[in-house]
Amino acid sequence: MPHRHGFCKTLRLPVLVPAPVIDQLQATTDLFRQVVTYYLRVFAEHLEVLDNPRWLSLAEKLTHRTIKNPAPLYHDFDALFPCLPSGFRRAAIAASYGLALAWRENYRRWQRAKVSAEERNERRAAVGKKPIRFTERPPQFPETARSWLTYYGTEFKVFDARHLLLKVTTGTSYIYRKVALARPWEIPAGYAAGSPTLVQKKNGWEVHIPLFLQERRDLRPAAALMQDPATRICAVDLGLNHHAVMTIQDAEGRVLATAFISGAKDNHLRKQYLERIARLQKKTGVIPEGERFAKDLWDKVKNLVGDIAHQVSRRIVDLAAQHGARIIVFEHLKNLHPEKGTRSRRMNQKLGYWVKGRIFQYTQYKALHQGIIVCRVNPRDTSRRCPYCGFMSIERYLPGKPHGITLAQCGNCGLHDVHADWLATKNIGQKFRLRYA
Ligand SMILES: [Zn+2]
Repeated sequence: MPHRHGFCKTLRLPVLVPAPVIDQLQATTDLFRQVVTYYLRVFAEHLEVLDNPRWLSLAEKLTHRTIKNPAPLYHDFDALFPCLPSGFRRAAIAASYGLALAWRENYRRWQRAKVSAEERNERRAAVGKKPIRFTERPPQFPETARSWLTYYGTEFKVFDARHLLLKVTTGTSYIYRKVALARPWEIPAGYAAGSPTLVQKKNGWEVHIPLFLQERRDLRPAAALMQDPATRICAVDLGLNHHAVMTIQDAEGRVLATAFISGAKDNHLRKQYLERIARLQKKTGVIPEGERFAKDLWDKVKNLVGDIAHQVSRRIVDLAAQHGARIIVFEHLKNLHPEKGTRSRRMNQKLGYWVKGRIFQYTQYKALHQGIIVCRVNPRDTSRRCPYCGFMSIERYLPGKPHGITLAQCGNCGLHDVHADWLATKNIGQKFRLRYA
């Protein structure tokens, strides 16, 4: 159940639909309750799933046939609920899980009450008093559900401010039905909308939309800013040899300013420390992280990482502020796949990863104080795609001098001799703009 924290209020919107659609809403809700009830039995028979963080996929695996899961234990589920939309199934599992957890909470409370009643009776018996009978009955595991259907993800669409498309059952299949709202779907400033729930009231059906108070840094969400053609962004590429390359870009992707933060000096120092640690490690054959003689060295490396992250993040935020950029865009860190090579080389790579993570964290924190949003994009192909012609035709090469610089050329459009990481920031900016195009 996402958004459990920060839940604030509910938008209740009556729906205006003709009688046949009302019947479909009713039928869909009835069906949903049957599915929730089914999963109550699954959880009752597999209480261990309640404590597993993967309860959702485990419950699916027990019931839903797929190519990878050809023989689920509950083999009649798919036959009972043919073609059930996956969002309905997951909503039902979540509702059922919530009921099962609530029962278990109650059951544990009852167990505790029973134990303390027994202890009290022992104390009473010791002073010659009669026992007080414990008459409370244990809470029963819920057998049927009266849950309301929550529409997750693809099972509903916002048609416009006054209409939603909700998936409903026709008895034989599932279709989207357009549902008119009595009032427009308006999200007050500073709030974000959650998944709508379909609820039946005395006077008819309503959709209930939970509203969550957003954190301060989300108060001016990126989507709204990107509607403004004057919005500038600061795209950042974090590298291993240099610390960062930043470009300030306008709404069309034109680069208005570029800044490089070299890491050569820090890298040299870091490498020295790491080589000394590696030598110690080799000599003793143990991981010296917790060892006394290496602790000072590790502390030095850690301090260095912290210093670098503070300096680099400060310069990123300053550059963004100086050029009026309201959004700073990073790449998500790629998974760390340790390279082959010497121990110190592998450790150096690991540390680079660590530094990048810190730079992102500190930038986020510092930007927050200046009302700048920090976002991330998928790093896929940002160093391989040509931002000018769109082809995956970027080749990187080392020019030899200046040392440590990687240049790039495009095999398709003839672009050549540009800084490879500068090019990556172009792609990062482009990816971010495309998200809101
Ligand atoms: Zn090109």
